[in-house]
Amino acid sequence: MPIKKAKASKPAPAAKPAPPKPPPNGMPRREAAPFFELLKAKQRILRGDISHMETEAMQRGKQEHAAQDISSFADLGTDNFDQEFTIGLIENEEDALREIELALERIQEGSYGACETCNKRVSKERLRVIPFTRHCIECQRKEEKTPG
Ligand SMILES: [Zn+2]
Repeated sequence: MPIKKAKASKPAPAAKPAPPKPPPNGMPRREAAPFFELLKAKQRILRGDISHMETEAMQRGKQEHAAQDISSFADLGTDNFDQEFTIGLIENEEDALREIELALERIQEGSYGACETCNKRVSKERLRVIPFTRHCIECQRKEEKTPG
């Protein structure tokens, strides 16, 4: 019987190099501007630098500058925001301040708004409630199920 020449075995497909880490799927700084203001305002309040009323006055002054962006928050209402911000989400003010600082850094880097786990965009709805969150709601839930 004819000797079938063993076909030269195809070279194993070269293992693809690990895909480069995709750039953080964050929102551009311009888009993050209203969250920047929210974070800054909260930071000042938590630090006790200025009273809430002063912050609001300042916010009003800045609205001229960021009127378009801020307008998307109008229907939410700041009272609602304050409640959501303080109830059950953060253990203490120091933690909150740290998270806020990190979030502000992420805005500078352009990585703000991207989930640190899955790199998907965190919904703006969620960011309005927890502007310093690092995870989308799905990953947050998973994390809560598997502590540590
Ligand atoms: Zn995620």
